[in-house]
Amino acid sequence: MHCIDVAADIAVVRAARQGLDWVKSNYGNSPWLMVSISDGKDPHFRKAWFDRNKCPTDCPRPCEAICPADAIQELTGVNSNRCYGCGRCLPTCPLGLINEIDHHLGLKELGPLIKKLSPDAVEIHTAPGRLEAFKSIVKVLTTSQIPLNRIAVSCGSEGHGLTHEALAKELWQRYSCLKEYGQRPLWQLDGRPMSGDIGKGTARVAVALWRKTLPIAPPGPLQLAGGTNAQTITHLNNENGPAGIAFGSMARKAVQPWLIEAQARQKSLTEWPEGWENAMSQAKQLIKPWLARKEILGRG
Ligand code: SF4
Ligand code: SF4
Repeated sequence: MHCIDVAADIAVVRAARQGLDWVKSNYGNSPWLMVSISDGKDPHFRKAWFDRNKCPTDCPRPCEAICPADAIQELTGVNSNRCYGCGRCLPTCPLGLINEIDHHLGLKELGPLIKKLSPDAVEIHTAPGRLEAFKSIVKVLTTSQIPLNRIAVSCGSEGHGLTHEALAKELWQRYSCLKEYGQRPLWQLDGRPMSGDIGKGTARVAVALWRKTLPIAPPGPLQLAGGTNAQTITHLNNENGPAGIAFGSMARKAVQPWLIEAQARQKSLTEWPEGWENAMSQAKQLIKPWLARKEILGRG
């Protein structure tokens, strides 16, 4: 794994740094730390919320059952530390009690925060019609003088009504901006607005978008992002690429139960051998086929 991508939040980054320091001291190297921000309203920066006092006591709690992050609990409502805004719970409430709350950072907060977080890379979630907002963010990041290995640009076609040609045009506009500010791009193509852990369809859509966009995309590594899951690799031929793959909710679903159980035991996962082995085994199942593919295709 080359990069971990977390929310631009001081507590989250502190926890991620602890993990990365542990990796470095045990393995001699650690992945980049990338923080995610957005140039406008975006599902990645929303949280679900409802007033649990309004829930009828006999509600069968479909919201809780559908949540892949185990973020909804009877006594506490939505645990915002676990909610990652996938939106699956929103339509399930028969009383329409669940709202989405936007949490994306404002431009004024961004500069000082980035200086404090000092990440290795930043991911900007963008959308059509937000070029000016995107430029403002890149300007703030550049003037913060934090040396960034890459600025990742995350954008998809679905949900924005874009063809892949229109998406490529949006990426080229962002490429000009990044070039102007001397920043190196990394393109994250979202086949679906959020990474998915269900169905072969999401994986197929993500790969199809990548394949169509590759010949007309601007320079820079082009990664598969939203809609990726364990099926993704089965949709690829012996073609050159993708440059990388981002796993979001699929990775969370594999590892989170072990983290929650470790927390319940008041231990870190590394202090609980059974949980550690199981979590590592789940993570390896996701990643190993990609390493094997890289070896077969002869790329470094
Ligand atoms: S279903 Fe998704 S949006 Fe709803 S609480 Fe769970 S993680 Fe958050
Ligand atoms: S489905 Fe609606 S009423 Fe039922 S527990 Fe969830 S939020 Fe409350």
